[in-house]
Amino acid sequence: MITSSPAAARASRAIERIGRLLRERENEAGLNPAQWEALRCLSLANRFSRSPSAVAAWLATTRGTASQTLIALERKGLVARAADPRDKRGSRLELTVAGQGILDSDPLASVAETIAGLPPLHTVALGQSLAQILDDLLGASSRPGFHACAGCRNFAVVAGGSGEGRCGRFDAVVATDEATRACIAHEAA
Ligand code: SF4
Repeated sequence: MITSSPAAARASRAIERIGRLLRERENEAGLNPAQWEALRCLSLANRFSRSPSAVAAWLATTRGTASQTLIALERKGLVARAADPRDKRGSRLELTVAGQGILDSDPLASVAETIAGLPPLHTVALGQSLAQILDDLLGASSRPGFHACAGCRNFAVVAGGSGEGRCGRFDAVVATDEATRACIAHEAA
């Protein structure tokens, strides 16, 4: 039998309630939770990670299920698909202007704003605790990293202090703003 303290049970109920509130608000805004999460993925991922397979990994779902989500977003005019210049058989996904616009009313952003209103130490501790819980529940090694270039063994900063770098994995220049984006291929140094 699993035992927990009253405080742990209270925290669990709060997580469940917040999740339910978020899903309700996401549905009210006209997109289902998977569609919102795919839009967030495309807004945060670097260009090497804006593919259907990367979105499937971000959503922790199958290629087929992710494909249905992406087709729905394309039909709504929120996502556009183009040929991947690095892989003729692949495609690269981009948010449209409408897709970027709808993220301005992302219900998850209001949760983040509320968390940001906590004392800074509480915010940090909350983030670390929730990440630990997620890792314990899902298994950290079962999920791809989706981290920025800093700390990736494939990344070499270009001299000059601009923050621009070179990716050895993709043999490509990584612009300063893109180096801070999430990458599915990040490999810890
Ligand atoms: S350096 Fe690493 S994190 Fe950055 S683009 Fe290359 S593989 Fe991805």
